[in-house]
Amino acid sequence: MTGLLICGGTVVSPTGAHLADVLVDGETIAAVLAPGAGPADIETLDAAGKYVIPGAVDAHTHMELPFGGTFASDTFETGTRAAAFGGTTTIIDFAVQRTGEVVQDGLAAWHAKAAGNCHVDYAFHMILGGVDEDSLKAMDQLVADEGITSFKLFMAYPGVFYSDDGQILRAMQKARDNGSVIMMHAENGIAIDVLIGQALARGETDPIHHGLTRPEALEAEATSRAIYLAEVARDCPLYIGHLSASRALAAVAQARDAGRNVFAETCPQYLYLTLEDQLGAPGFEGAKWVCSTPLRSGHENHRADLWRGLRSNDLAVVSTDHCPFCFKEQKELGLGDFSKIPNGIGGVEHRLDLVYQGVADGKLSLQRWVETISTTPARMFGLYPRKGVIAPGSDADIVLYDPTGRTTIGVETHHMNMDYSAYEGYEIAGRVDTVISRGTVLLSGGAYHGRKGHGRYLPRGLSTYLV
Ligand SMILES: [Zn+2]
Repeated sequence: MTGLLICGGTVVSPTGAHLADVLVDGETIAAVLAPGAGPADIETLDAAGKYVIPGAVDAHTHMELPFGGTFASDTFETGTRAAAFGGTTTIIDFAVQRTGEVVQDGLAAWHAKAAGNCHVDYAFHMILGGVDEDSLKAMDQLVADEGITSFKLFMAYPGVFYSDDGQILRAMQKARDNGSVIMMHAENGIAIDVLIGQALARGETDPIHHGLTRPEALEAEATSRAIYLAEVARDCPLYIGHLSASRALAAVAQARDAGRNVFAETCPQYLYLTLEDQLGAPGFEGAKWVCSTPLRSGHENHRADLWRGLRSNDLAVVSTDHCPFCFKEQKELGLGDFSKIPNGIGGVEHRLDLVYQGVADGKLSLQRWVETISTTPARMFGLYPRKGVIAPGSDADIVLYDPTGRTTIGVETHHMNMDYSAYEGYEIAGRVDTVISRGTVLLSGGAYHGRKGHGRYLPRGLSTYLV
């Protein structure tokens, strides 16, 4: 018989972990079987001692994003290859409508960048840079015809992606009607721009001022405002991107306690890195960690609160917000003016490992690890049960994870197109062993077998994660 039998591993899902064999037929999973119950005359893959988990879904990446006069340094080709090395077999990237541009034209431009270039499957959210009659109409068309069921708005970046409260409300009302999800960059960009101007006027130009001019109060305020606006839009589903701080989390938790369709993700950088240790590094070094929302103070309780939020499901998802820029020539655009440093950190390769370290440290259960990196992002964004679960009929996206292995993160070993690592020298108590995408082995025994063009566009359905 043709196919592949993954034998002897521990299959992990959000509801538990159990010894099972997984039978793959072509691009899909044919069966999950009691150990030893599979056919004998078939190619096998030994998974003894390994966790067998659904391929991870990174719901927040920005390959080739134009930002601040440059482009994110990973192309769809290099970024999805790095994702594959890290066990991520699906990315949801962001197509961009710039202000004044036709939404469908922006989408077509992103399809052109990605088509034929991806190593793993990909989908798109749509960034709306200008909410008006035309783009509101386009939302319906994208949901109905293009498989795009989530729209990102920005309360930050006035003059670039910014939407005012009236525009946000109208887009939320539209999303409520057509069943899509509004994703929000929740920072008060109008107030932040005042603080940036004042800091520069005082001669405060170092990277740490990027963080100091984006105080967590302005994330908490914007998060709360978005939650209230979504309530006025008859409980439009709202997903807060890259949540970084305790009081923003408290606002999400309060809404969730009230039974609202409010969700949030955090990112590994907020679970590990701090304003003082990284952004405050001497000289211009801190530019490596300029991202928005910014890294928060290690003297406050943010990181512990975020891990707790992951345990309690007030934080539903860990995404990377992968948006890499090289230090040389790209981050250096902000030498002498922190506000000109391109915003973003690369991490698409390291999310499984960095969240798994939380399991090794006793901060998160094995089940929550799988749920936050794979199952929930698939359900949240209309890819489930094709992605996010090991079950008959699902795509055979499977990762074998070795809990006895070790991973050292660094620029010498990573596969992202970046000249530094945000996690240089981090040691992880675990290792991605084997990566399978739609039945094709991309990584095994340290050897990479993937290729560009293997990854396909995934039209998405509506979210299946709403209350
Ligand atoms: Zn982002």
